[in-house]
Amino acid sequence: MTDIVDTKRRSTIMARIGGRNTTPELAVRRIAHRMGLRFRIHRKDLPGCPYLVFPKHHLVIFVHGCFWHRHQGCKYAYTPKSRIEFWTEKFESGVARDAHQQAALQALGWRVLVIWECEIKDEAAVRSRLAAATHCEEPSPQRKETVSARMGSAMAIVGQ
Ligand SMILES: [Zn+2]
Repeated sequence: MTDIVDTKRRSTIMARIGGRNTTPELAVRRIAHRMGLRFRIHRKDLPGCPYLVFPKHHLVIFVHGCFWHRHQGCKYAYTPKSRIEFWTEKFESGVARDAHQQAALQALGWRVLVIWECEIKDEAAVRSRLAAATHCEEPSPQRKETVSARMGSAMAIVGQ
């Protein structure tokens, strides 16, 4: 697979290393805010320090970068061509950590929703997923057909 990540995209990915309040996270936060949802950010007392926590809905949301968190089947989740062993090990431990954190959250009674970085450009789809997860009305119904076409497996909420 060729390296399709352009320079701008790469700098976005790199900016995510250890970062907080990155652009994709802020985008999701803005959408949730506009929907009038009540949430807390970065609850450090919860496993994995989830980015958005909706206490009323027993819901936590992680906004995951496709590269680091290995979005399956996503073009951004490529493996660098050099130091393959290093990357593979890094990715595997990261994915295992994510799974462990999600299981721990579920054990505490939280529902876990993962929104991938590549999904955020489709704001209507993100809104639909938030609406579905919090059972509230979707404020603007335009672009419904795009949304329903894309929802499919992306709709699945872990643990439901
Ligand atoms: Zn992706």
